[in-house]
Amino acid sequence: MSKYRKELNFAVELVRKATEITEWFRKKGFKSYLKSDQTPVTLADFASQIYIISQIQYYFPNDEIIAEEENNDLIDIKAENLISKCFKNLNIEELRNLKENLSFRGKPSKRQWTIDPIDGTIGYQKGLSYAVGVGFMLNSIPETCAIAVPNYKNKSLAIFTAEKGKRSQVSYDNEGFKPIKVSQNEDIHNSCLCHSLHYDKPWILNFARKIGIKKFIQIDSMAKFCMVADGSAELFIKPLDVDHSFTWDFMPGDLIVREAGGDVSDLMGERLKFKTEKCIWTAPGIIASNGILHKKILELYKNNL
Ligand SMILES: [Mg+2]
Repeated sequence: MSKYRKELNFAVELVRKATEITEWFRKKGFKSYLKSDQTPVTLADFASQIYIISQIQYYFPNDEIIAEEENNDLIDIKAENLISKCFKNLNIEELRNLKENLSFRGKPSKRQWTIDPIDGTIGYQKGLSYAVGVGFMLNSIPETCAIAVPNYKNKSLAIFTAEKGKRSQVSYDNEGFKPIKVSQNEDIHNSCLCHSLHYDKPWILNFARKIGIKKFIQIDSMAKFCMVADGSAELFIKPLDVDHSFTWDFMPGDLIVREAGGDVSDLMGERLKFKTEKCIWTAPGIIASNGILHKKILELYKNNL
């Protein structure tokens, strides 16, 4: 039994229930807001994060939380009532202060949870792909995580997990977990590249085409990491800028790809570091791969600079 199996099982239940919340709002309708950095957020993002934080606060009261949403001023009385209604419908215990829960981060601790309550909010708004990601780190080292992806490859729900030094697994539609493995394809020309639907930069496709990649999957959210981890794609390249490189976006996907046998680094070959809410990297993008192709792609990238 691994050291953090309890945290792993807990993370699985968090992302599973959180997608019940996000899907509830998808059916009932959700209000959208624009954050100060001009990225969108919906009432479902808030509800999902409030639920996840309330559970961590209850079961692991001494742990620290690194979570995406912080502006609880956007939640008015009408929004609070709707979130309460959702929780009641889903048999979630009533919470006394929703807004306080959203911004609760705990005390500084070597035990840290990362929360992305909805990754790929634009995809969620449009009825496309999105994910809910929860990670657990000890002393800034990723230990375990869970990513839930509704509507993944004709399944209504896929939950991906990883444990450091163990393996990555997937469960479809609440069935048992099975190990996943990256693709063993060594041929760049026959490889498939995942890239972002709403946050892409032209250089990603230009570079990919130049090195001979012909197959592409364009979707939102950290589901792209899952596609590399389960062998659906060999590569995922993501442009990064300093203002938008958050630990909650990359920690779960980084662990899932690596424990499935793949590799993740920035485009200079440095591993991502997750010290605080911002993750540390040195290049204008990151790459997740099946491992076999990793070095070759980094070389090609440097030669094409
Ligand atoms: Mg998000």
